[in-house]
Amino acid sequence: MAHEQAVTSPNWFEAGEHVRIEARRRDVEWLAARDNDPRTRYVPVWRNRSLVGAGEALLVTAEELGDLEVHVQSRVLLGERDGSAIFGIELDAGQEQAGSWLKNLGRLADLREVAGELDRASAAVLAHARAMAFWHKQHRYCGACGAPTEAREGGHVRACLGESCGKSHFPRTDPAVIVLVAREDRCLLGRSNGWPPGLFSTVAGFVEPGESIEDAVRREVAEETGIVIGAVDYQSSQPWPFPSSLMLGFQAHALTTEITIDPHEIEDAAWFNRDELVEQTLAGTLKLPRGVSIARRLLDEWFDECGISLAERLGVAG
Ligand SMILES: [Zn+2]
Repeated sequence: MAHEQAVTSPNWFEAGEHVRIEARRRDVEWLAARDNDPRTRYVPVWRNRSLVGAGEALLVTAEELGDLEVHVQSRVLLGERDGSAIFGIELDAGQEQAGSWLKNLGRLADLREVAGELDRASAAVLAHARAMAFWHKQHRYCGACGAPTEAREGGHVRACLGESCGKSHFPRTDPAVIVLVAREDRCLLGRSNGWPPGLFSTVAGFVEPGESIEDAVRREVAEETGIVIGAVDYQSSQPWPFPSSLMLGFQAHALTTEITIDPHEIEDAAWFNRDELVEQTLAGTLKLPRGVSIARRLLDEWFDECGISLAERLGVAG
């Protein structure tokens, strides 16, 4: 059942309704014409915050953008939807005026906090815009020679302006693994230092250079909890633009049960059976990861294996 779901149901922040129209990124005339096209829409990002309306992303027109155009620091062709070109725009974080203007139009919010209130297409387009805005902000200078860079190809490349360099820089995504470790009727959850009280989640960490994702899963589980795992099964993946990760979700079978935490990595880890997870969550002593996260999806799928719906048991919308 877990495998069927992984194929049919997308995770949050993926499966946007905007089509990425890659070929248009190099079509300079077409891009220029979009400036004067009243159908063009912009997805603003300011200080990593996104603009939302009632239950959806708020896309703005050039007219609404008005004088704020001067504070646009990067502009990215995200794609096209219903005949409208959609651009992500990064507004100058140093300009309070940009934030105030956006607040007149809607709510400026951290996408991670509000995604669950939005439709999935909105969450996906905001995630795309936020990730690209972050990348531009981090790559204004060439990492090879230090000269300024300039956006090209609809904002999907930054070219170094250094005369003897001219290197092209491309958007980066950092792979991270996230794994639900299970053994018999129990699963392993842990909590990091500084998390909200009661919150427990699946083990996660970044893939290191020179490491396969399977190696990363084994290393992270062993480092954080001392548990040795056997088979590692891929489940699904999720773009996680906070700021630039791709979460690769797994389920793994534990070969050992004795937990030894690394206090530098996490502050607690424990085994829970399904009833304990439900009872402690309903009692308010345990907090599970947010519904929009792949961590929650991994838990949902682990419950599904026994024909139990975690959402139903908790009395929340699936
Ligand atoms: Zn350079």
